[in-house]
Amino acid sequence: MVEKIQVKSILNRHKLRDTWFLENYTLNPYLGCSFDCIYCYVHGSKYGEHVTNHLKVKANALEVLYRQLKNRAKNREYGIIALGSATDPYLYLEEELKLTQELLRIIHRFHFPLNIMTKSRLILRDMDILKKIDKNARLPDDLQRKLGRGLIISFSFSTMNHKLARIFEPAAPTPKERLQTMKKLADEGFKVGACLMPVLPFLSDTPEQLSYMIQSVKEHGGSFVLVGGLTLFGDKPSDCRTRYYNALREHYPDVLTKTEKLFGNSSYPPHRYQHDLAVRVKELCKEHRIKNTII
Ligand code: SF4
Repeated sequence: MVEKIQVKSILNRHKLRDTWFLENYTLNPYLGCSFDCIYCYVHGSKYGEHVTNHLKVKANALEVLYRQLKNRAKNREYGIIALGSATDPYLYLEEELKLTQELLRIIHRFHFPLNIMTKSRLILRDMDILKKIDKNARLPDDLQRKLGRGLIISFSFSTMNHKLARIFEPAAPTPKERLQTMKKLADEGFKVGACLMPVLPFLSDTPEQLSYMIQSVKEHGGSFVLVGGLTLFGDKPSDCRTRYYNALREHYPDVLTKTEKLFGNSSYPPHRYQHDLAVRVKELCKEHRIKNTII
């Protein structure tokens, strides 16, 4: 079921630039996500409802973005727009609706730089307009020096193991497909990389798995890897904590016990876990000669 909604604003501005993804703005054409990753907190009561089968399209997105970017450009408030921060911009229905594609044309018209986050090969359809954004966008002075181009493309992975991906990302494009898409874009000269977010405790966060994933990103033309841990919210049936624990109960009961112990009553793994993960990733990135930051 797809519902059309009207929005007053589609471009959200941060007070400060995000230090990981470098964006000043976020933009999401859709609400909800049909890729249905069961660790994803877009689903469930944190955002008020179960949205896997109830997608919303921002029907007036084009006119609202046009107005908002025109104003920002007039005031020379250039900054990177993160496209897909809350939901994938290349959902299956985008193939028919072409809403993301039209938004890209507006972004290019006003010369804003972009960081696209996706799991989908549909991004290849928009190669021509993406090349123009990459070449013509206006960046803040410091990013012009350090980044020097208008487009970053980030593919997200929680695992590169096919079996795990089918369990935890049942409706998303396969990791293999994402890597192949990344390679095609890298071969076309784009700056591509990977967000290993979230890595799954005791499943895809082991040194061996992390090393394999980082090496794979490098081999497929990626120039950076960002890694983040899992967060688990809620206790209702559609909440990611419930869904994640149910999946572990069914497929990896031994991991369920360890994960429950790791999280306790918190939505986040302990600080120690996050620190150790960051240290491990830094070492592995050094070993595989790939950056653990975008710039
Ligand atoms: S693709 Fe991203 S937004 Fe969509 S369900 Fe998966 S994690 Fe959530």
